[in-house]
Amino acid sequence: MSHTEKHEFKAEIRQLLDIVINSLYTDREIFIRELVSNASDALEKLRFKKASGESVFQSDLELKLTIDVDKENRTISFCDTGIGMTRDEVMENLGTIAHSGSKNFLSQLAEGQRPDATLIGQFGVGFYSAFMVASKVEVLTRSYQESSDGVRWTSDGSGSYEITDEADLPRGTRIIIHLKDDQEEFAEEYRVESILKKHSSFVPFPVFLKDRKINEVQALWTRPKSEITDEEYEKFFEHLHGFGKPSYRLHFSADAPLMINAILFVPETNMEKMGLSRLESQVSLYCKRVLIEPNSKKLLPEYLRFLNGVVDSEDIPLNISRESMQDSALLAKINKVVTSRFLKFLNDEAGRDAEKYGKFFDEFGRFIREGIVQDYTHREQLAKLLRYESSALDPGQTTSLEDYIGRMNSDQKEIYYLNGPDRATIENSPYFEGFRKKGLEVLFFTDPTDEFVMDHLTEFKEKKMVSAEKADISIEDESEGGLSKDQAKKFAKWMKDVLGDKVNEVRSSTRLVGSPCLLVNKDGVTSGMRQFMKAMKSSMPAGMGESYDLEINPSHSIIVSLHAMQESDENLAKTIAEQLFDNSRAAAGLVEDPRTMVERLNQLLGVVLDSRKSA
Ligand code: ADP
Ligand code: MG
Repeated sequence: MSHTEKHEFKAEIRQLLDIVINSLYTDREIFIRELVSNASDALEKLRFKKASGESVFQSDLELKLTIDVDKENRTISFCDTGIGMTRDEVMENLGTIAHSGSKNFLSQLAEGQRPDATLIGQFGVGFYSAFMVASKVEVLTRSYQESSDGVRWTSDGSGSYEITDEADLPRGTRIIIHLKDDQEEFAEEYRVESILKKHSSFVPFPVFLKDRKINEVQALWTRPKSEITDEEYEKFFEHLHGFGKPSYRLHFSADAPLMINAILFVPETNMEKMGLSRLESQVSLYCKRVLIEPNSKKLLPEYLRFLNGVVDSEDIPLNISRESMQDSALLAKINKVVTSRFLKFLNDEAGRDAEKYGKFFDEFGRFIREGIVQDYTHREQLAKLLRYESSALDPGQTTSLEDYIGRMNSDQKEIYYLNGPDRATIENSPYFEGFRKKGLEVLFFTDPTDEFVMDHLTEFKEKKMVSAEKADISIEDESEGGLSKDQAKKFAKWMKDVLGDKVNEVRSSTRLVGSPCLLVNKDGVTSGMRQFMKAMKSSMPAGMGESYDLEINPSHSIIVSLHAMQESDENLAKTIAEQLFDNSRAAAGLVEDPRTMVERLNQLLGVVLDSRKSA
């Protein structure tokens, strides 16, 4: 049943094509990389089918990619002997959105960022880059499945495509690009060769350009490190990542407990941080250079999804199916070995070049934090990789937890931290002043997730992680003229009467220096935790974290004067007590609607001004 059908592209593909055709002017050459990479994927998939014993049409056909250019007819074509596509697959893969990729690409464009053609492959819509240079694209393809038929897909990129049966095709896919008038450079042999050398030198199959083999198939990770140049590593990274240079690379081999050869790269930028979609695993699993699972999800923990690379283990049975690979205990073992090795590598790098590591942590630190929450096994190793600003260091400098412990006095049992939007706010917090006075180092937490992470870490090297908002430190009272113990106690009771249910308890504090009072959450819920819960749109269990104790500083002049005013002008004293309470709430980040507070402040300002007038 031979038939030709015309189909409209789905709306998002139309929109994507419109941008590809009309707005992407630079880096057009990357369409070659994208089509080569698709062919390479198709060849890998076929190799896998064969290895796992499936029957394959034209089983003896050599696995290779052949590129042809024809200057006269202005065409360039890519012909692979890979897995091919059935009619249904063609319609699914080259007409609808199989992945969320194009949506993400479009939304990046919508946000006004300059269209960056080199990123197109990252979004899983690389095929459409052909329309940057093509007036027409033809795809001739024949699936590896014995019972399948060949099809021809044709489109000029303007909104629809045609699909028709095509008899007698060999297995695999031939893509013929009819170049636009001004794109004939891509029918030049030397030009195409240099592009292939630049972008596609690590294709793991033979690539021919007009019958000339132009690549040496190489599995870089199986070669001795000493023989590999930086440039080769960089090209390999580009082959994997699509663009850019790696910031770190780890190439290692292990013999026990498993035979492993691996190369892992950290890119320069964190694509997730750029507000793009969530990354997915970019490390592939090989056995003796044969791809077992591309972008394997179980190979590394989720929080290492920013890595690119390959892991090759000879211990994997070749004919294992992908499904059984999913929950294989072997994979879990490889996972553990590689993760541990990589985290150790990061720690070593941090020791070698702290500044470079600082940049890495700025960019990828969120993955380390995520790891602490998720990965109990490597928690200690991950905790070593954390970096924070600290009261003991100049702004901009950061410390590790190990270095913090190194600076501690021998009698200090806990590691202190304080959360806030920025360093200056934390330094001015009443919760910090006692620590400053006592010379206790406090880590400054400025990421909203920092405190949440501490709930999981709880301790490091047997030192408890403690929020300065909760820590019970006391400073010697050396001031004179403060309230006596007895006076302070009575005054606290008076304050409690004034404030009523707004506060759980009022008591004298031993940790305040420059502030008259401060709030302490009865359940130990800190301001950072509250903000985090709010950001996550979740809430504490009912009633939890809503009750506060007020600590007052009996040596502070405001408290001393207020104590005196209680006798002389109780009404004004009450208003001031209310205001002090609100000030503490503000310092704790609790004031959401400042209107009543502003009203009272104005009233108090009136009193001050009146007393000046009459003086
Ligand atoms: P991606 O490669 O990220 O999946 P593309 O837009 O490059 O996205 O390709 C879309 C899909 O089309 C591929 O996932 C694949 O299923 C199919 N495809 C493209 N080129 C080939 C090819 N040469 N052989 C077989 N299938 C192909
Ligand atoms: Mg692709």
